Amino acid sequence: MRIAAARPLPLRLLTACSLLAPTVGCKSGSRESVQGAREDVASATGTPTEPEAPPRPLYDDAGFHAPDRAARRAAVGSLESLPPTLQRAFSETTAFRPVNPPDPGDWLAEHREPGQSFARFQRVAPNVPSDARRTIYVQPIGATADAPIETLSRFTADYFQLPVKTLPSVPVDGLPVTRRLNDDVEQLLAPELLTWLAKRLPEDAYCLIGVTMVDLYPDPEWNFVFGYASLSERVGVHSFARYDPSFYGRADSVSDGVRDALILDRGAKVMAHEIGHMFGMRHCVHYDCVMNGSNHLDEADGQPMHLCPLCLRKLQTSVGFEPDARYRQLSTRYEQLGMTREATWTRERAAYVAGDADDAE
Ligand SMILES: [Zn+2]
Ligand SMILES: [Zn+2]
Repeated sequence: MRIAAARPLPLRLLTACSLLAPTVGCKSGSRESVQGAREDVASATGTPTEPEAPPRPLYDDAGFHAPDRAARRAAVGSLESLPPTLQRAFSETTAFRPVNPPDPGDWLAEHREPGQSFARFQRVAPNVPSDARRTIYVQPIGATADAPIETLSRFTADYFQLPVKTLPSVPVDGLPVTRRLNDDVEQLLAPELLTWLAKRLPEDAYCLIGVTMVDLYPDPEWNFVFGYASLSERVGVHSFARYDPSFYGRADSVSDGVRDALILDRGAKVMAHEIGHMFGMRHCVHYDCVMNGSNHLDEADGQPMHLCPLCLRKLQTSVGFEPDARYRQLSTRYEQLGMTREATWTRERAAYVAGDADDAE
């Protein structure tokens, strides 16, 4: 959905997108991309001698249809040749929920996503870290004193199992980036930020993510965007502006502790999400997953911090970590950050993937 800036709607109803990939066209939502998803699922079943009924399209005139269990397994692909630890890591268990059918106004109700199976992910030959190029760089843009950047950098290192470095902050004034006022909110044009970031990619960088407290917009016809990343150029940016309750005039309704926890939770999710895009991962349409698109803040808040089995397989194949060791490190990090629910979830997953515990009933 595109909304003309000349006819602004109440903020709660505005369309926001946490992925607009300029080089891949994720905001197009085309018929071709829906058909591509069908072909994709079919090719991932790998049972040519036992033809199955073609999977139901993700979209028809009635809207989005969540993939069923068989389609989810087909999207993850065959695990037969993998060691037991990886088989457990990429199998669907009760720890994961299928994608939520969208309510009106939610991302999947507004955007025709193509979906991306593991086989399709591999076919596009996404970027992968190398020995010479494996550091995730974080570039603060403008004043970011209210953003927990160092905390998020440590979280990011555990999440992606790669080194993370934070660069010195760069002032907004002087950036070669178009600025505008939208409903009295200052905004930066995100694609131009990506162009600028791409020129600053350090030699040893796997990727570079800009973080800012200034609001962003993806093009003049949109009202705002939470974040913006390229699937291929290894750069992205996200804004904390709308994570702070004070942006919506709700500062008085929450305590400082709740506000800080909200900003941290939202910041960690969007960091994982946008950097996930930089590994070539498209929006997840199969599971409740940190790689789900989000159209508004309530939707983003309802999404989990974790990667689903399908998206975890994509990231693990690119980075090569031990999934149970990653879950253990993340669990410790979440405990330090007071994120109790995530700490428990990752601790239980570590035990299950390591073979020390059964799936919960
Ligand atoms: Zn996204
Ligand atoms: Zn996923």
